[in-house]
Amino acid sequence: MSTTMTAHQLILKQRAELLAVLCGGGSAEPLDCVLDLLLACEVLVWEDYLSIRVAEKPLCSNVRQLLDMVYDKGEDACSLLLAAMSQVLPEEQKAGLCFGKECAVVGKDRPDTATLTLLADRPVLVRKLRDNIDGALNALLTTGCFTIKDCDAVQLPVYTPSQQVRKLLDQVRFKGETAAKALLQYLEQTETTRPNPEDKENHLSANCLLYQKKLRSSVAAQSHSLSTYGGTGRFSLDDIYTDGLLEVTDGSGETLTLGLEDVVGPLGTLNEDADTVLVSGEAGSGKSTLLQRLHLLWAREALLTNTFLLFPFSCRKLNAEHRELSLKELLFLHCCWPDRGQDEGTLMKGVMKVATSRPQAVGPSLKRYLRKEVLLKGFSPGGIDCFVKKHHSDPAMARRVIESLQANTVLLSLCHIPVFCWIVTKCHQELLGGQDVIPQTITDVYLLVLQHFFQRKSPQSQGVLGKAWLEEHLDTVLKLGQLALEGLETSCYVFSGYELQRNGLKEQDVSLGFLIYCNDLSVTDCKRYEFLHITLQCFFAALYVVLNRNSDRSAVSRLFQSQYRQLSSLSQRCLGHCIDSSVEGVESHVTETPNLQITAQFVSGLLSQRHHNLLLECCPIAVRERKVKQVVKSLSKGMQRHFKSIPRPVEGEKKSMHAMPSFVWLIKCIYEMQDNSIAQETMAKLDVEHLKLTYCNIGPVECTALAYVLKYLRNPVGLQLDNNSVGDVGVEQLLPCLHICHSLYLRNNNISDEGIRKLLEKGMKCESFQKIALFNNNLTDACTQHFALLLKSKQNFLSLRLGNNNITSQGAEQLAEGLSYNQSLEFLGLWGNKIGDSGAEALAAALKNSTTLIWLSLVDNGVGSAGACALAKLISQSKTLEQLWLNKNCISREGVECLIEALKMNSSVKEVWLRGNNLSPEEEEELSKQESRLTF
Ligand code: ADP
Repeated sequence: MSTTMTAHQLILKQRAELLAVLCGGGSAEPLDCVLDLLLACEVLVWEDYLSIRVAEKPLCSNVRQLLDMVYDKGEDACSLLLAAMSQVLPEEQKAGLCFGKECAVVGKDRPDTATLTLLADRPVLVRKLRDNIDGALNALLTTGCFTIKDCDAVQLPVYTPSQQVRKLLDQVRFKGETAAKALLQYLEQTETTRPNPEDKENHLSANCLLYQKKLRSSVAAQSHSLSTYGGTGRFSLDDIYTDGLLEVTDGSGETLTLGLEDVVGPLGTLNEDADTVLVSGEAGSGKSTLLQRLHLLWAREALLTNTFLLFPFSCRKLNAEHRELSLKELLFLHCCWPDRGQDEGTLMKGVMKVATSRPQAVGPSLKRYLRKEVLLKGFSPGGIDCFVKKHHSDPAMARRVIESLQANTVLLSLCHIPVFCWIVTKCHQELLGGQDVIPQTITDVYLLVLQHFFQRKSPQSQGVLGKAWLEEHLDTVLKLGQLALEGLETSCYVFSGYELQRNGLKEQDVSLGFLIYCNDLSVTDCKRYEFLHITLQCFFAALYVVLNRNSDRSAVSRLFQSQYRQLSSLSQRCLGHCIDSSVEGVESHVTETPNLQITAQFVSGLLSQRHHNLLLECCPIAVRERKVKQVVKSLSKGMQRHFKSIPRPVEGEKKSMHAMPSFVWLIKCIYEMQDNSIAQETMAKLDVEHLKLTYCNIGPVECTALAYVLKYLRNPVGLQLDNNSVGDVGVEQLLPCLHICHSLYLRNNNISDEGIRKLLEKGMKCESFQKIALFNNNLTDACTQHFALLLKSKQNFLSLRLGNNNITSQGAEQLAEGLSYNQSLEFLGLWGNKIGDSGAEALAAALKNSTTLIWLSLVDNGVGSAGACALAKLISQSKTLEQLWLNKNCISREGVECLIEALKMNSSVKEVWLRGNNLSPEEEEELSKQESRLTF
């Protein structure tokens, strides 16, 4: 379009486009900003404004009215309108439009009444007052210009802060000159409390304190409620927040449990020089909620009291920022605008950063720069109960929900992830009401929430949705799905109204509740939307992949390939610039992969035979079948990749596979399909003796999937799950594959006696099950009777390791009772318990007749000389024992002498370890001379 055209012509020619950009996102903000400018430069008078901005009329007719009116006012008015639009609209919306000659929209001479001053300054005032509405309303209230009712009308929650300011200004105008004067006076006062430059230091802190106060109140307001509860206002964070499990591994490799206050505290610090704490956890494990809680407690001065200023950011939202930002803009625009002293903030002094990410997103090369990494493991079983009780004010209902979870342990295991727990609790009616399909998979759970939201909006909201409910809402589902998928593919999680419109999403689609307004502190007025939770975005993307008839044929396979290829350019991602791509290389794209993996998991679930009927009318059978085949093929290929990575066994060693991160994901996809034959076929090709899945973030949910698939292994394996968060519920989920495990390694997994009871009940009946390692769990004497029973009844059991638990002499006595009947055990480890002398005596007596025991560890158990003398009797009789570990006990000379005597009669024992007992260096030297097999 030519710039030689008159403004008149430009408005006429581009009418449709101008209309579209001003009503585009559905937000009135662009129009309001233009009106502010036109009022200020007197293109419009007050009456014009009132006739244009009629709230009851649709936005588009407001805009048409404006275009018509300005058109009639002549060429100058038209060019000022174009200039105003050019000033207000973001660059991407201006593309392709012509705004004519550059001209500035400025006010005329200083007006002589307060009312006119407010009009001339309107654009500036909207910006200035939006962070200070309370102050202005207070001033108007105390001067008697406003009533409480006036204030309430201004502060209606449906208005954005800018809209509130405009309502305030309109109301002031309506009240007349006195009110306008009062407002100007208030504005002047706030200006004159500016700092005195001569007393900079004092004012710096005064300003900072004022800013801190303001920041605290904005942070408090923003973190008050959870976004998943939408605008329902039903729950504040205080009402619903439930502590999650937090762990940190300290320098010595020991795992410590943390409280919320320890997240930024010294506990578990690995690198004193680093200033970033990383909270990592799976999607939905509660990372954002935890930060929100920290923010709220800081705002209330209940926690982090030494932190002067706290700025909450969302990287996902920053991703949507296309401009370059200065640090000040970043902090002030995205968090909280300081009313004064903007140049004096000592913002970067001693900053501490708390960031969150998925577990695999940060690789070893970045981890070096972390102060510490805190692992968020979701809810404990007690946490689930607590959450359900908080959610349901009616205790009887809470009890019913908890009981139904206890009865469906698969669902219970899902509830360890808070976002699933939220859905399950929210959809309790559907759950308790008896569904056709009892939820077993995360796809089931998300279909439940989908149904729940549609049901909520359906006209007969009490009625049950018809069988074809998905088909009825297919149009909406596809539109949301397309938005979701495009977003995931470009790492976009925040959408403008414009993008929604482009995808054909209308107000009624948005009002279903899957999309919510971004809840942040930023002062940009454009409404932005995000999915209720990232996992829901993945779910919609999956629905699109499955239900879209026009998708290209390789969409499914591509999704499953995503982790093997480099994704969208790194620089698009928030903080992408900070990562040196040469260092991070492979790790960098991993950050994006988990969302696509979750999507693939949902795709597998949706294509499961279980949902065949639901999808029947939505997707032609042939298309569905083709997609199912693609999924199965992708899964099988993915597994093959893993199997190929298995090295040939070194002679004398077992053939072993160390799972790579995507192994667990593939297993979870297979589980979602709920098709035994697929699981069976995949596992038929796996031929290993040992499967290592340590540090793989395996919780109860993963255990369910693992057991479902591994139960089809053809030959028994050793399953090594050390350092995960299996817990009692996870143990129960593993039972279906216990028969195929010859060894189970569950070190450091939060397992208690109850989990062991269930495990051994089954284990006793499993012929192949021969070894168990349970170092560092929560076991007490209450579990030893079950081990005793196992030892009595299973005469092929080989190895029992119970180190670092809470077993005392009583527990040892119970174990001894079982041991006395056992003729198979070779390894017994009780390191780091408290069995004392009497425990050692009981064990020694029981093991005296063992013809199989090779290795015994009673390190760090409070064993004294009496215990040592009892063990000496065992040595003197045993023909098989090779190693006895007695370090870190309180054995004195007398005990060691007993051992030496016994060793004289024994030729099988190779080593007795006695470091850290009650002996002087001289004694140690002298005694080791007497018996070379002793090590001090
Ligand atoms: P993440 O950031 O790890 O993806 P979120 O913090 O967004 O997870 O949690 C997802 C949802 O799970 C929340 O919106 C909330 O409904 C629920 N939730 C998470 N953590 C908690 C918690 N500690 N207490 C109560 N609800 C929680």
